[in-house]
Amino acid sequence: MSNVKVNTVLGRISPEDMGITLVHEHICYGYPGWEGDQTIAPFDHDSIVKNGVDALLKLKALGVKTYIDATAADQGRQPEILKEISEKSGVNIICSTGYYYEEEGGSAYWNFRSSLGDISDELYELFLTEVTKGIRNTGIKAGVIKVGSSKGKITEYEKKMFIAAARVQKETGVPIITHTTEGTMGPEQAKLLLDSGADPKRIQIGHMSDNLDIEYQLETLKYGVYVSWDRMGLQGLAGCPMDEQRYNTLTELIKRGYSDKLMISHDYIITWLGRPLKIPEQALPLIANWYPTHLFEHVIPALKQGGVTDDQINTVIKENPKHLFSGE
Ligand SMILES: [Zn+2]
Repeated sequence: MSNVKVNTVLGRISPEDMGITLVHEHICYGYPGWEGDQTIAPFDHDSIVKNGVDALLKLKALGVKTYIDATAADQGRQPEILKEISEKSGVNIICSTGYYYEEEGGSAYWNFRSSLGDISDELYELFLTEVTKGIRNTGIKAGVIKVGSSKGKITEYEKKMFIAAARVQKETGVPIITHTTEGTMGPEQAKLLLDSGADPKRIQIGHMSDNLDIEYQLETLKYGVYVSWDRMGLQGLAGCPMDEQRYNTLTELIKRGYSDKLMISHDYIITWLGRPLKIPEQALPLIANWYPTHLFEHVIPALKQGGVTDDQINTVIKENPKHLFSGE
């Protein structure tokens, strides 16, 4: 038993009480710029809540107790709505602090500030305050720090985010979860975070399901971090491989003894902020299973068919998230 507490949107819980956890999901999400389109696509509080509660009740019926919302400060994060959804669904929700990667995040603001001076301490102050005191004036504390890197590189801007995240983790113990772009920079992210003083046992390198090269997986795993296969169901788009191929590599990693270092999630966005998406007809079959119950409906059965045991699955979906927070 650890003394560590986990910040959920409804207050602190013990890692032991997290249960089955989806480690990288989004209640709602908007690319920076969505705010400016609200004349045409107004922010719809009620439908975000309804969609969120509906999805979380389905997950709860499947045994999910905790849902990590990986929406960073510049991705349309809505802590009060997360709180309302957690109250109505009875599922724990963990909210993020942090910033998305440079190209797709809110980088204009920080790059402007950077042109006037070093922003390192400002980022540290922001992440620390959101973890220890709360987000804006909500009193809702972030339970994880989200950072990300670009395709094939970690930019100077992104490095500052990673270093600030590591500093805050060192002080608070809060886990760091990351975005990698199109299956690149997993090992480099792990190394940067460790070099900056972060604890590998409290790091989840994200979107590792987007690179099926076993060497890439092992290169990342050698730092002692968790690798998060968190885009299950998102296939053939945004650099994602097909699930059928993913099952092979995932099963191989488990057979090689890494079940205690793997996470599985979907990165599914329940409600898009801004206008509804126009998804091309031919892409629809590719995302037919992109929904947070996919893990239970298809992924777990496929892994079992590949010889993965119930015990190993339990480790991945329940024990590992707990240990990410307890640091044990
Ligand atoms: Zn995400």
